[in-house]
Amino acid sequence: LIAAKNLSKSFGAIDVLKNVSVSIDEGEVVCVVGPSGSGKTTLLRCFALLEQPTGGAVIMRGKTIAASGASTEVRQAAKRVRSDIGMVFQHFNLWPHFTVLQNIIEAPRRVKGIGRAEAEADAVKLLEKVGLADKRNEYPSRLSGGQQQRVAIARALAMRPSVMLFDEATSALDPELKHEVLLVMRDLAAEGMTMLVVTHEMGFARNVGSRVIFMDQGDIVEDSSPTSFFSAPKTDRAQRFLRQLQ
Ligand code: ATP
Repeated sequence: LIAAKNLSKSFGAIDVLKNVSVSIDEGEVVCVVGPSGSGKTTLLRCFALLEQPTGGAVIMRGKTIAASGASTEVRQAAKRVRSDIGMVFQHFNLWPHFTVLQNIIEAPRRVKGIGRAEAEADAVKLLEKVGLADKRNEYPSRLSGGQQQRVAIARALAMRPSVMLFDEATSALDPELKHEVLLVMRDLAAEGMTMLVVTHEMGFARNVGSRVIFMDQGDIVEDSSPTSFFSAPKTDRAQRFLRQLQ
């Protein structure tokens, strides 16, 4: 569905991604783990078209959607798929002056031109899915962090994306609030959503992930099933990383 091909990204003299290649099939839940600064977020942001690669490409359904020195053709392809890629950030980034419902209907109304009644009906269904239908008229500041993050997930889903990218979606939350967000993500995975999840939650990677990618110093060092990654990591670097978590 979506792939990185020889992807590189540098910020000035720092090479954050070094020739990374990975391909994600429909329905896969790929968890990206690794030490701080290894390039996980930058990889995800390249997939989300928020960072321009300095080398290589991001490819969706066979079309290049990001590349260094992107041509008009690439930029047009990116524009076409932008709403097909959903993103959930560590900090929920809800619009504070909009109610929960307004947050969710804004993009479908503006970008897709969906009528208010239809957008609202859809938003209510999505809020039911994340367990927050009764909060539709609240403002974000009146919600807990976990609730805000569930609204952010509903908001991303409202665009009917083919793939959802999660960037440490639970890292800013207290443990009990993490859980409610992880449950929503687990349900989404069970429904067959294609997901790329940067996470420090090894339980989620192990139990929900269909694949685990381990990154270190801008490289993908391992790409394997959760079972083999957690029970028999192949590289010293992954073994060290897992030992440090214990
Ligand atoms: P963490 O788990 O701590 O979030 P990460 O694996 O997601 O780390 P990245 O956030 O991708 O790592 O960052 C990798 C490196 O790139 C870091 O050294 C970071 O300082 C650097 N970096 C990221 N974004 C920028 C930027 N916009 N400008 C300069 N350096 C950046």
